[in-house]
Amino acid sequence: MQIGKELYSGKAKSVFETDDPDRLILRFRDDTSAFDGEKVAQLARKGTVNNKFNAFIMQRLEDAGIPTHFDELLSKNESVVKRLEMIPLECVVRNIAAGSLCKRLGVQEGMDLDPPTFEFFLKNDELHDPMINDYHIRSFGWATDEEVAQMKKLTFEANDALKAIFQAEGMLLVDYKLEFGRYHGRVLLGDEFTPDGCRLWDADTRKKLDKDRFRQGLGGVVEAYEEVARRLGVDLSDVNA
Ligand code: ADP
Ligand code: UDP
Repeated sequence: MQIGKELYSGKAKSVFETDDPDRLILRFRDDTSAFDGEKVAQLARKGTVNNKFNAFIMQRLEDAGIPTHFDELLSKNESVVKRLEMIPLECVVRNIAAGSLCKRLGVQEGMDLDPPTFEFFLKNDELHDPMINDYHIRSFGWATDEEVAQMKKLTFEANDALKAIFQAEGMLLVDYKLEFGRYHGRVLLGDEFTPDGCRLWDADTRKKLDKDRFRQGLGGVVEAYEEVARRLGVDLSDVNA
């Protein structure tokens, strides 16, 4: 796989063309950001840990019947993925109240949400990713009704698979964000699933093992990501190589 020109450099990953028009390379960088890019830092090893973590989870989701863009690991911090036409929406499922939900609705962090709740956000940094609903998506044509139904279905199916994966290793999946895209007429899961885009707590102590450690200045950010990866059995053997 030949790496081509850089198409896009985001807050945490860079996207490259390849010699195959249907494939891209995602490079996971050590850059971390929060609060719409207001707080930034470089966290050693994060790019590699997240690349490996993402590969592991994407494969587990494929096993659970969720179609993803993931093809293969290319290097310690790069993966080959299918080139999607990204749908500019973030699909968030919440099993436990945290983050923006607590601020918006005045509920206590840690409250169980049964059934889990679902939110759409528009992916737009300048507008601070506003929360939107199905009617906005329809009026502005961001996705078809069929795509909306498919994104919701796949996001909830992912919840069942992921909750079980983390629960088996003593962790609670609090919430997470997924992004989808179009590939030859199908909707596939794109982007990433890593502790940068979800909340994970230790089931016994409720210790935060995700990006809230960075947002809240708790320290030990990458160490927590590594702990989650180790518990799941993700191969991190060449992280320091
Ligand atoms: P952001 O754009 O939010 O700063 P990143 O730094 O993670 O986020 O950048 C990665 C970009 O790549 C995101 O905009 C994401 O939507 C896009 N992307 C992820 N997977 C694919 C894919 N398979 N095809 C095309 N674009 C993708
Ligand atoms: N999330 C994300 N990218 C975003 C916004 C949210 O990955 O641009 C994830 C976040 O890590 C959390 C979930 O989506 O797991 C819900 O985030 P929330 O709405 O609580 O926003 P936050 O307070 O994290 O900004």
